[in-house]
Amino acid sequence: MPPSSPAGLQPRAPLGRSPEAPPAADLLRSWDREHVWHAFTQMQEYEPLLIERGEGSWLVDTDGRRYLDGSASMWCNVHGHRHPRLDAALAAQAGKVAHTTNLGLSNPTTVEFARRLVEVSPPGLEKVFFSGDGSSAIETALKMAFQYWTQAEPPQPDRTRFVAIGEAYHGDTLGAIGVGGVDRFTAMFAPLTFEAIRVPSPGGPCPATGNPAPSLAESLATVERILTEHAGTLAALIMEPLVQAAAGIYVHPRGFLRGVADLCRRHDVLLILDEVAVGFGRTGTMFACEQENVSPDFLCLAKGLTAGYLPMAATLTTERVWNAFLGTHTDRRTFFHGHTYGGNPLAAAVGLASLDVFHDERVLESLPPKIERLRGHVERMSRLDHVGGVRQCGLLAGFDLVADKATAAAYPWQEKRGMRACLASRKHGALLRPLGDVVVIMPPLSITLDEIDLLAAATETGIRDATE
Ligand SMILES: *Cc1c(COP(=O)(O)O)cnc(C)c1O
Repeated sequence: MPPSSPAGLQPRAPLGRSPEAPPAADLLRSWDREHVWHAFTQMQEYEPLLIERGEGSWLVDTDGRRYLDGSASMWCNVHGHRHPRLDAALAAQAGKVAHTTNLGLSNPTTVEFARRLVEVSPPGLEKVFFSGDGSSAIETALKMAFQYWTQAEPPQPDRTRFVAIGEAYHGDTLGAIGVGGVDRFTAMFAPLTFEAIRVPSPGGPCPATGNPAPSLAESLATVERILTEHAGTLAALIMEPLVQAAAGIYVHPRGFLRGVADLCRRHDVLLILDEVAVGFGRTGTMFACEQENVSPDFLCLAKGLTAGYLPMAATLTTERVWNAFLGTHTDRRTFFHGHTYGGNPLAAAVGLASLDVFHDERVLESLPPKIERLRGHVERMSRLDHVGGVRQCGLLAGFDLVADKATAAAYPWQEKRGMRACLASRKHGALLRPLGDVVVIMPPLSITLDEIDLLAAATETGIRDATE
């Protein structure tokens, strides 16, 4: 013990090396309960499940049980687990260097990745700011948009506010929850955040509030009214294109994105698109915004950016935004923001390999039959007694569990039917994660048609078990 260490503040065990044999699964489960504080999880009710391995669409627990990865490991896995080319890219980069800072320094892998991202993204996006997770990609866009107006020509420093969509989800950091609208996540922290101006989502109806969704025309009229009323004070509008995933798979009516983008352009309000969940093929195209021919001022990417291998995010933006930040040191126009692991080369190496896999394995071309197969299951399951509504966008589907199909009456939230359905489907070989009482299917894009059948069957049985 070092002499300065007061008695009672000694570590539980001296720093030793790991034992030869790994700890047994039971011991690990008890340590998991004892020490690991899991995200979005009530720890008093937590039941450990330890995944030890993955292969393709499958995950294997410490007891050797196999599960289909029905949530793509929280929406980020793209090409399946242990893809040989991604594994090889990671190992090859580890053989060079694991991390170099991108604060005023660079490395070849990250530069090449930035270039490739610009090549595959919608036209006009030329500049790439790397960070570590989706929330940080959003914070980056919000801060860049804000600072942009103070340095634009002429400066418009009154443009400090953001417009966001109701029930939006943009991450869990304070800026991101300021523009977020899923109340059960954000209400607690409202006193800590800034207030965004809200447009009701046209993708509902909202299972939480039961409010019917406004029509496309009503939503666009609201956007137009807000942009007019708040003229001169708006920095940007932020939205998830085509589908608001975390809200409960709210699929927007076609034309909403295009309409919002046109209004933003007309009122000179910057458009931030959050493709953290939908980027990299989820909706059937590389980026969701392609489907309505929209190129935003900021494109935020994360989850699928490294195909679900490593934490990395990117905020892409335009020459116009970039130019407003140029100047000499003494001009004080620098973007003083950064994340220590931004541009990490291991992540960039896997991201590059993932783009190669997209190309060489013709991943986007492989999606239509998978989306159709899922559609068949979604249609069938929409007829289940306690499924009140279904929504699908590409390889992503949500099922609303309801107490009474005729009246669409929700279950009391205390009954946790969504979670119960997902836990029940584990017994039938699928790992799923619900959004409240919405059961979600979001597999890796590499899932096969047979595996889609298995996943749907396990989901259906889970829903039946939990709603009987
Ligand atoms: C997951 C998600 C985020 C936040 O990403 P993190 O990596 O979890 O911080 C932001 N926006 C959307 C649409 C997401 O789905």
